Amino acid sequence: MLAAVFRKIGSTLELEEVKEPTGGIILKVLATGLCHGDLHIISGDWKYDIKIETPRILGHEIVGEVVNDTNTLKSGEKVLVYNSIGCGSCKYCRAGKYQYCERVKVIGLHMDGGFAEYVKIPSEEILLKIDGDPIEIAPLADAGITAYNSVKGISSDDNVLIIGTGAVALLGLQILKSRGVNVTVVGRNHNRLNKAKELGADDVISINGRSTIASVIRGYTFNYIIDYVGSNDTLLDSIWLLDREGELRIVGEFGGTLNIPEQLLVLRGIKVRGILYGSLNDLINVYKLYVEGKIKTIVQKYRLDDINKAIADLAEGRIVGRAVIVPP
Ligand SMILES: [Zn+2]
Ligand SMILES: [Zn+2]
Repeated sequence: MLAAVFRKIGSTLELEEVKEPTGGIILKVLATGLCHGDLHIISGDWKYDIKIETPRILGHEIVGEVVNDTNTLKSGEKVLVYNSIGCGSCKYCRAGKYQYCERVKVIGLHMDGGFAEYVKIPSEEILLKIDGDPIEIAPLADAGITAYNSVKGISSDDNVLIIGTGAVALLGLQILKSRGVNVTVVGRNHNRLNKAKELGADDVISINGRSTIASVIRGYTFNYIIDYVGSNDTLLDSIWLLDREGELRIVGEFGGTLNIPEQLLVLRGIKVRGILYGSLNDLINVYKLYVEGKIKTIVQKYRLDDINKAIADLAEGRIVGRAVIVPP
């Protein structure tokens, strides 16, 4: 089968004929989203945190078709793949938070993923039967679930600032708007800011040059700030825009450092937390929102042969929404 293989940090993926996977549950890949995480792996940003053995087929946002009947699924059925497999017995796994399991294995990181014609899935418990366009649905497997987790507990009483306009941010925005939350979006990419406006953002603010977020949005305060970037620029002073008992949620992984005067935290009762992926239940819930028409994914389709073009387009900010890779 054709696969895009990651062999070396800093290199493009190699398009190769490799052996089809055997054993376990085999899916014929219908669509796989390209995530910023894939770029972080390829460029070596995560080499100290996540050990990736090479050669490896990346791709952790997968919709596939079941090849052979399983206990609960029939051949030909379409499924969305929850990508993290935990040990099943630690306190995080028992709470369904497999992403925090010390022994977690992620499809497309620790085992071969979806940038290929077929993928092997170790357990059917992580498969959600779906109906609809695989290309539109694939981004829910990571961007969607993360977006859902990132806006939990936020209600129509709250005023929210979203930092960033990538695929996760645009989904988070839509979930908040479906609850009637007032949302301001700040970003640098004009095409994506326009898309945010189109998707219902109450206000979009463009930031350019060396201006900082707090200097551009002076005079407003928010109950929640959700940073879908996580760079030094976005973390620099945005926390000053939080209201009393406000919360900063950091989702993006651009490696910035957060420096906060402790008195700001204490006097305003501010909370700071990180958001990593979500639970299998979150995936079920975000798919439900999609089926109900409350959210939609924005996708740009690429053939597997063109995956390196998709990677370059994503790295250079030319993608609005998600690049989704489809096998030939
Ligand atoms: Zn990802
Ligand atoms: Zn565990």
